[in-house]
Amino acid sequence: MDEQTKVAILAITVIIPILSLLVWNSDQAIISASSDSTQITVIASFYPLYEFTKQVGKEKVEVLLLVPPGVEPHDWEPTITDLQKMHQSNLIVINGIGFENWVDDIDTVNSKVMVVNTSEGISLINDSFFQKDENKHYDDYSLADPHIWLNPLMAKIQVSNIADALLQIDPNNRIFYQENAKSYISKLEHLDEKIKNELSTCKKDFIVFHKAFSYFAVQYELNQHTIINSNNPNIEPTSKTLEEIINLAKNSGINVIFTEEAVNARTSEVIATEIGARVLVLSTMEIMNENSNYIMKMENNLSNLKEALCT
Ligand SMILES: [Zn+2]
Repeated sequence: MDEQTKVAILAITVIIPILSLLVWNSDQAIISASSDSTQITVIASFYPLYEFTKQVGKEKVEVLLLVPPGVEPHDWEPTITDLQKMHQSNLIVINGIGFENWVDDIDTVNSKVMVVNTSEGISLINDSFFQKDENKHYDDYSLADPHIWLNPLMAKIQVSNIADALLQIDPNNRIFYQENAKSYISKLEHLDEKIKNELSTCKKDFIVFHKAFSYFAVQYELNQHTIINSNNPNIEPTSKTLEEIINLAKNSGINVIFTEEAVNARTSEVIATEIGARVLVLSTMEIMNENSNYIMKMENNLSNLKEALCT
């Protein structure tokens, strides 16, 4: 390793403090889109599920976002008040695959509330899939990767699962939910086609912060490399993984290092400076931003990926 790389690694592992995850006022633990006593009440675990549920339920459903805007959902835990609100709801929408490690707590409050696991029917990537090099150290919390929502074709299945749950609870509006789901699914299909077409002739290797884009990478035949070897962003990069990523970036001619919305961009910036690259955002959709939505964020990701891979 050359001196300059050593300095860059030192800067990240020692000088940059623990990832400064954004945490806003926890009193806003549950936000509500609207309120109407004729609506059914649905609690969505985190941002993409909130968006998908609103797209299917529209004005017939009051959707509450459980993990507050600006808060990173990995390792998030509900308060007693959150659990009480879940008790009062008609439906709880979760990602599954261990993403909501609090889900068993619902039973302690009320086992009757319906919980829809939107990952039902999706083929998961097991982490062993990536462990081709036995000398590499992996810090994953769980074996299966939860980030299914970043693949639009898997998001389609999540939307269908949400529609199925809503029409079970509210069969009078069956057609309404089915039509809304169909219309949103066609937007996701259009998005999938667009990503496929626009990335098909570009380079394949990209570097992100945490291992969130495995399903996306498999779908579009890309090679994801990560600054930390984990499905969970709440992990510090190690000297070893940083050295590997810097060497890989240098050897593959990578000119963009991605960061994400809820982690300290400084880590990506130091690596980018070391190799003469730029830093762009690739959203994991794990936090909600006002004035944006899933499709807009995916299109923004596509545009940043094209900057990295197609120029
Ligand atoms: Zn993640």
